[in-house]
Amino acid sequence: MHEYPITKRIIEISQEHANKHNAKEVKQINLVVGDYSGYVASSIELYFGIIAEGTVCENAKLNIKRVKPMLKCNECESLFVRKPFSFECPYCGGQGSPTEIGHEFYIESIEI
Ligand SMILES: [Zn+2]
Repeated sequence: MHEYPITKRIIEISQEHANKHNAKEVKQINLVVGDYSGYVASSIELYFGIIAEGTVCENAKLNIKRVKPMLKCNECESLFVRKPFSFECPYCGGQGSPTEIGHEFYIESIEI
C-alpha cells in the first residue's frame, strides 16, 4: 500500500522535469527497484496507471529495472545471487554476507 505515495512522488518529479524543459509530455520513466527495497514493482505499475491519468505522464511508459539482491563472499569477495536457504559462494564454497545490492530505489532517467 505504501507504493501509492511513492508512485505519486515519481509522477511529481517527472512533471517538474517536464516543466523545467517546457515539455508537454513525458515519454518514458526508467525506475530501478531492488527486490529488497521494500517496494513492489507490480504495485507501482498499477498505481502509475491510475495516478498518471490526466497528467503529463499519461502516455508515459514506465520501465522498471529490478535488481536481485547480491551476497558478497567473505573468502574470495565474489558477488553472487543468493540461493534459497543458502549463503554459500558458488565459486569457492565460502560464506557470503549481505550487501547493499538489491536495496536500490531511484529514478534512473526521465525521457521527455
Ligand atoms: Zn567465494
